[in-house]
Amino acid sequence: MLHFALALAVQSAAAPSTMADPKAPYWQQHVDYRIVASLDEPSGVLSGTEAVRYQNHSPDTLTTFSLHLYLNAFRPGSRWADADSVEGRRRFNDLEDPDFAFNHVRDVRIMGQPVTAMYPFAPDSTIVRFALPRPLLPGEAMQVTMSWDARPSTTPRRQGRRGRAFDFAQWYPRVVAYDRYGWAEHPLYPAGEFYGDFGTFLVDLDVPQDQVIGATGVPLCGDPGWAGAARDQRAVEYRRDYYGTTVQGISSGAVCPADRAIASGRKRVVWYAADVHHFAMSMNPEYRYEGGHWGNVAVHVLYQPGDEEEWGGGVAVERTETALEWLDGLFGPFAWPQLTNVHRIEGGGTEFPMMIMDGGASQGLIVHELGHNYVMGILANNEWREGFLDEGFTSFQTSWFFEEHGGNDAYRFLEPVVLGWDLDGISEPVSLVSEDYRDFVTYNWMIYTRGQVFYSELRYIVGDDAMRKILRTYYDRWKLKHVDEEAFKAVAEEVSGMDLSTFFAQWLHGTVLYDYGVGRLERNRLPDGRWFSRVEVLRHEEGRIPVDVAVIAGDDTTVTRIDGLARSRWVEVITPRRPDEVRLDPDERTHDWNYLNNERKFGKVLGIFPQPVTGPNPHFYLDTYLSEQRRRDRESNGIAPALWYNAAGGLTVGIRGRSNYFGRYNDNVLFLSQATGAGIDDGPTPFDFFFRLGNPVMLRSHRTKAILEGFRIEGRFGGRLGLTTSHREHPFFGPATETGAWLEWVEPDDFRFLDPGYYEDVGTVELRREHTVTDRRGDWRLSLTGTSALGLAYNRDGLVQAGRSIDPFYARVAAEGTAKRSLGGGWSLGLRAFAGAATGDNDPAPKQRQIYVQGADPLRQLGNPFLRSQGALLNGDDFYYQQPGGAGLRGYDPRLSVPGIVALNAEVEKRLLSRPRAKLFREVAVAAFGDLAQEFGSIVIPALNDRLGFAMDAGVGLRIRHRIGQTSFVTRADFPLYVSKPAVAQDRNPGADEFGFRWVFGFQEAF
Ligand SMILES: [Zn+2]
Repeated sequence: MLHFALALAVQSAAAPSTMADPKAPYWQQHVDYRIVASLDEPSGVLSGTEAVRYQNHSPDTLTTFSLHLYLNAFRPGSRWADADSVEGRRRFNDLEDPDFAFNHVRDVRIMGQPVTAMYPFAPDSTIVRFALPRPLLPGEAMQVTMSWDARPSTTPRRQGRRGRAFDFAQWYPRVVAYDRYGWAEHPLYPAGEFYGDFGTFLVDLDVPQDQVIGATGVPLCGDPGWAGAARDQRAVEYRRDYYGTTVQGISSGAVCPADRAIASGRKRVVWYAADVHHFAMSMNPEYRYEGGHWGNVAVHVLYQPGDEEEWGGGVAVERTETALEWLDGLFGPFAWPQLTNVHRIEGGGTEFPMMIMDGGASQGLIVHELGHNYVMGILANNEWREGFLDEGFTSFQTSWFFEEHGGNDAYRFLEPVVLGWDLDGISEPVSLVSEDYRDFVTYNWMIYTRGQVFYSELRYIVGDDAMRKILRTYYDRWKLKHVDEEAFKAVAEEVSGMDLSTFFAQWLHGTVLYDYGVGRLERNRLPDGRWFSRVEVLRHEEGRIPVDVAVIAGDDTTVTRIDGLARSRWVEVITPRRPDEVRLDPDERTHDWNYLNNERKFGKVLGIFPQPVTGPNPHFYLDTYLSEQRRRDRESNGIAPALWYNAAGGLTVGIRGRSNYFGRYNDNVLFLSQATGAGIDDGPTPFDFFFRLGNPVMLRSHRTKAILEGFRIEGRFGGRLGLTTSHREHPFFGPATETGAWLEWVEPDDFRFLDPGYYEDVGTVELRREHTVTDRRGDWRLSLTGTSALGLAYNRDGLVQAGRSIDPFYARVAAEGTAKRSLGGGWSLGLRAFAGAATGDNDPAPKQRQIYVQGADPLRQLGNPFLRSQGALLNGDDFYYQQPGGAGLRGYDPRLSVPGIVALNAEVEKRLLSRPRAKLFREVAVAAFGDLAQEFGSIVIPALNDRLGFAMDAGVGLRIRHRIGQTSFVTRADFPLYVSKPAVAQDRNPGADEFGFRWVFGFQEAF
């Protein structure tokens, strides 16, 4: 924050004393560059001189002048490098000489006078500022000269160098744009791109003879190496004369004039470009060349050895031409004579005027990057201030391209992702200064994806034809100028004839939610036999967007669009037939977060009650337990049969239904089961149920879940009420916390089902707080959980249990920390520490609330029908199951519990097999483990005739990991070959030896 405050102070100091009137006629500065530069390949340094003619078209008197030295971002100590490091990306802060980049400027003279460099954002040096020797008046021009050295970094980011290959992007001292807000001095950060004033570039290069060069502009004279590198039969289209046969005293031709000495083995190539705000170039003696043409534009493609399949044979040329055709159709004719598409060193892609540097040759990447030549290159927005005007825009047009070429509508899969961010409350406004986003990931999601959805919503609001007209008008009016939100909005409003102020304000400067619902309905028959209906549309959230109201009358649907501004709006519709139903936003285009209130039928239930407000018909499916289906537009209901066995109920049949809306609301479960008594001697038992109401739509709140459960299951009944909230400052790194408060009531009822080794005959009511923090620190994955609870124990005879006294109140606290990391070579290490205590005033807490030595306590096993009751599948006398939890001494009797214990668990694992795409047996690993604990308390354990005291176990194990659908699970077998107290080992064999063959099994990781 200090940096930011400082930056503001510095920027306002640089601003002119009288700010231009934003309503004043548009103006833009003009900059002519003349650069003479020579590349020394062994050192990677390009050295040059630069003469700038700066024309002040602004109404302001200028007293300072600033340059970007962008390459200085890619070195230790820059703001870019520091921002990377804060977010866990180590790149440029670790580079040493000669790997880091730089751009040093020397001998700067302005108006013929030497001037002194100031670095207002030091130690960052991506901006250098100079005081003018005398003020530059409106309408005046001045000369600036300098010399400089520039070196790209060996770790590429937009720019870069590798061997003899060089991607020169933002490589020369570039004049800072000056607009109505003053000098746009902006250090370079990972988030945010560029902004520059239009002008001309004459770039006079001296490079090794065999270099093949692609660049902004046309090669005025000299050989860029294309013909020699050509892989096609076409005549190369140099377009040398595009700007005239002589430009700034240099005549065009295959050979440059001999007014400059060039050493042998080297060549001179002079480039020229006009009406551009930046000049980029790339060179590599290995480049292969193919050419093409679209409209009035020459297409040059430069690819690398090995690219013959992906780029060669005309593939990349044709895709570039296809992209030009699409974009010319969408916006208008390309503004420049040529377009060069090169396969750069880095992956991904970056755009420059007349040039795109791509890591691949996919049609989508080419359409995206070439789209930037229109939005950013020609319609030159300030990319760090309003990145959505280029990134969101070109992402939008790329999706539209695919939609028009038989692809899917990207809105259908991007909008739900954006909605997830919105519902989590972690979206930030689409239009925000780039480095003010909370992190790089958020910046990307907001300006690209949320920005893209903004344009999709605009297209929905104005319609396809108006949208196309908006793009053409915007381009025609603003090409080769600086644009901003205001320029685009004015065109959109003018073409559509709509007031779009609320839409722009909310989508670009807020993160509001949208939710429309149907209110009251009325219908009346008119004398002519038609029907007159009135529909109330309610706006439940802050977001306002036009919404379609569909009145459905048999096969006829009448759609009326309302502006969606009012809290409540009556819509009047006449239909030829009697209307049945109303549906809001039937095409699902409004970003309405809750479609469950968008439908309502006319008429009354039983002639009394109005029909309920609903969503589209719920979706039903057969639930396989492994994957839950989720729908954006309606509730999903998965129905699953269930069957299990335990010793008390015998064979039990059940049915489970679970529902959700959008994977996060109405997360409800209803489970009904009936023990048949088959397979046992006892009579049948009552009907059991379990229900959960989770996170109802009506209680929506950011990152908070409310849960209500009730049950009668196998000899227990009770309920739970819970509220959990989660928090994460950064969506993809940094600590994540989860806090929960629970009220839990469990009363044992039928001891035919309950093992007295787990339950005493008392009910418990417990109020519990849980807090978990997870984080990554270096290679470690860390987790810390603390729980604290106050409980009440009771039974029907009062608060005293035959056999021992039980305090009515007990306290229960536990803390668990785990740390896991990879050790390399398939080895990994896991450590766990646990401490827990559960006690009343004088006596231990009820058995079911004590701390368990082997694993989870009984109330944590309630959800598992294979475990929770006597004689269940995983709970037999000969079956040794471990559900992780407690002190985690896996070799011990799962019924063993104590009032207090501290424990340590350790595992070393070696992966033997990894098949990341497989469902079953994705990974097989062997492990060695050790667990140790010190018990404290007063319970004498009958089998020991003593307290537990110190106990440990150790052994080896096997883990086989699987993933089916959304469900990941492990089949874990542990062999605790050593158990220090064999009398209370898992097999409960008092005479056993400390060493012996023992096993336990689990479906979860040990911790
Ligand atoms: Zn882009």
